[in-house]
Amino acid sequence: MLHNPMRFVHFIGNESVPSRSGESLPVVDPSSGTVFAQIARGDAGDVDRAVGAARAAYAGIWGRVSAVDRGRLLRRWADAVEAHVEELALLESQDTGKPLKQARADAVALARYFEFYAGAADKLHGTTIPYQDGYTVLTLREPHGVTGHIVPWNYPMQIFGRSVGAALAAGNACVVKPAEDACLSLLRVASLAAAVGFPAGALNIVTGLGPEAGQALAEHPGIDHISFTGSTETGKRVAIAAAGHHCPVTLELGGKSPQLVFADADVDAALPVLVNAIVQNCGQTCSAGSRVLVERALYEPLLERLAARFAALRAGPASMDLDLGPLVNRKQQQRVWDFLSDAQAGGIELMAQGEIVDDAPGDGFYQAPVLLRDVPSGHRLWQEEVFGPVLALQPFDDEDEALASANGTQYGLVAGVWTRDGARQMRLARRLHCGQVFINNYGAGGGVELPFGGVKASGHGREKGFEALYAFTTLKTVAIRHG
Ligand code: NAD
Repeated sequence: MLHNPMRFVHFIGNESVPSRSGESLPVVDPSSGTVFAQIARGDAGDVDRAVGAARAAYAGIWGRVSAVDRGRLLRRWADAVEAHVEELALLESQDTGKPLKQARADAVALARYFEFYAGAADKLHGTTIPYQDGYTVLTLREPHGVTGHIVPWNYPMQIFGRSVGAALAAGNACVVKPAEDACLSLLRVASLAAAVGFPAGALNIVTGLGPEAGQALAEHPGIDHISFTGSTETGKRVAIAAAGHHCPVTLELGGKSPQLVFADADVDAALPVLVNAIVQNCGQTCSAGSRVLVERALYEPLLERLAARFAALRAGPASMDLDLGPLVNRKQQQRVWDFLSDAQAGGIELMAQGEIVDDAPGDGFYQAPVLLRDVPSGHRLWQEEVFGPVLALQPFDDEDEALASANGTQYGLVAGVWTRDGARQMRLARRLHCGQVFINNYGAGGGVELPFGGVKASGHGREKGFEALYAFTTLKTVAIRHG
């Protein structure tokens, strides 16, 4: 039995493995605030065991699986996930508080990541390089070896899919440390990997706390590459730990992503997207469109229409499948409350607020979506990531002013531009300092095929799309002198 409905343990070498210490951590349902399961509390010893299993797989049977067969395994895994979407969605929604439709979308996206990387596995080619007479020079794309993956709680399945899917396609063996608030779906997905034929040790999962299991993974000398998704602060810690053993890192960190709406925009098209980009997953999305800058002529009319939409939004238990579920935990709820009390103290006007339905359990971690107007650039509501359903608005008078404000935070993950002016579209796409720009659309977290990642405090390196395969490989140059 690979998992038990109430007690979840590590997944190492295709087996369920309790933590060596015998300790576990409670799993809380954010919709009700009640404990409904336990996960193993992994420590450095458990991590060491998982890395050992991965190293043995890489040196053994997994390391010899051809690219085409790695692709076939990923394809079978995608099919297995598709066949279990409902089960995975239910598990995820209870574990994280996601409304069921969001949890289903995440499971479908996970299958799509595996499908994408299944197709890409045998298309990762090296090159030949013209060099001196009498030489043939070629490059080989080789797996790093054993890759570590530290995953946050906001989109566990999607982030696991993009990171582990690409790493396995490239031939690495993986050790994953999911967030302590969101492990259950991933343990089930790992059991599906074993069921479709991934050899023991190709994929291993150790659950536990960040400073314990996470830190141990980042420090482990048997890890050859780390992919970290999470907060900017923890990302720094992981990079420092990895530097201790010369381990390359991909860091996908936070964001405060702006959407710029010009007076000539198609407002009917923009409105639902502006709302969804901050409401999706209760605002707990690294690429949430959390700042909206509006050209002054459109500011009041757009605000009015946005306010009407916000007032109609409803938050409630994940199982009710409303616009928003609860936030993931009490700490996150307190964090959002702190931001909102700072907004109040700073005299920022709350323009509209959605509602929490009456039958939402009182101990759940709910937060109604909030629309704030005229947020000054210097305020922390404009500068810092809330990671909750709080949208900050600001008017602008010209393109340069909008650009300066949009680029004027420590982050640079995603940006959106709404205008019918083609020249302006191109200018802003080039001048916005971030990893992705959407013109007349916005993809908070979407786009399996689209390379994704940040600049500045939003991180470095790219995941998703074909680009991720380069991150999960290392390039070797072979120069052959044959005369
Ligand atoms: P977090 O940084 O607290 O945790 C992320 C992961 O790191 C978890 O698995 C956690 O257990 C682990 N961790 C914590 N301390 C650690 C340590 N010392 N060493 C190693 N691992 C450690 O972040 P979170 O609260 O889980 O997620 C929210 C943050 O993640 C937000 O800031 C959000 O913007 C960011 N995020 C970014 C992306 C992206 O792709 N850019 C995606 C999702 C979330």
